[in-house]
Amino acid sequence: MRENRDGILYASTYGKVSAVHLDPIEKKPLFHFHPGREVLSIGSVGCNFRCLFCQNYPLVLGQAPLSTAGIPELVRAAREAGAVGIAYTYNEPMIWFEFVADCARAFREAGMVNVLVTNGYVNPEPLSGLLPLVDAMNIDLKAMSGEFYRRLCGGSLEPVIETIRTCARSTHVEITNLLVTGENDSDEAIRQVVDFVAGTDREIPLHFSRYFPQNRFTAPPTPTDRIDAAYRIGREKLPFVYVGNYHLAGAEDTRCPSCGATAVRRVGYRTSVVNLSGIRCASCTAKLRFVI
Ligand SMILES: [Zn+2]
Repeated sequence: MRENRDGILYASTYGKVSAVHLDPIEKKPLFHFHPGREVLSIGSVGCNFRCLFCQNYPLVLGQAPLSTAGIPELVRAAREAGAVGIAYTYNEPMIWFEFVADCARAFREAGMVNVLVTNGYVNPEPLSGLLPLVDAMNIDLKAMSGEFYRRLCGGSLEPVIETIRTCARSTHVEITNLLVTGENDSDEAIRQVVDFVAGTDREIPLHFSRYFPQNRFTAPPTPTDRIDAAYRIGREKLPFVYVGNYHLAGAEDTRCPSCGATAVRRVGYRTSVVNLSGIRCASCTAKLRFVI
């Protein structure tokens, strides 16, 4: 993604996209940020991790064809589609940082939101430059294990923890934990993730996602009893726990922690805001963690 031409370093994927889609915001996944709205979603290629189980590896390894996208065209496309803004997703947004930052400034000026879907593996300095432009993030937390990050992702845990803590203080954050069969799907591994979220901010929505064999991983999909367990363990300490890539009845809905009323109902990517008044529960008026 960086190219040295005669001593000058070029960002070779600047303005190069592998995918542009209009997606439900729930697909990022963001469940507590403009529920039911659509977001223009773009990605390029490249990543600063090399996860052996990467669920998006043609984009990450740079095998996807690229086309050119201009920032004014993206702003216009989002506006014409009635999207809430733009999501930098599919591949790691930090890997084409310069373009993401320029595009984010344009979307902010146009009154639309910027969403990052990231692995959180970034130094504090560039993060602090981008963060004021970011309205919401979904950050991957793969496991609370440095060994897992080293062996399976080619990275390390500490910077990710730092990113989550920093971002949770300044923008809307949701966390995704991909449960990889036999690697991080034990009760103990799940509990470590839940405890970290609870200790950071217990109202952060936590998404457990089902793994499917991809890239260099051939283990079968996450056993469904492990996803059931993750949901149960998460709900012991956290009010907003969800499951993805797998249907568990009711496990995509948001219930009011105060009165138990269902505030938002979700089936697949069909979202119905059934019991919210602004960001308050319409039954008991408790303030809920939503950005609308
Ligand atoms: Zn309520």
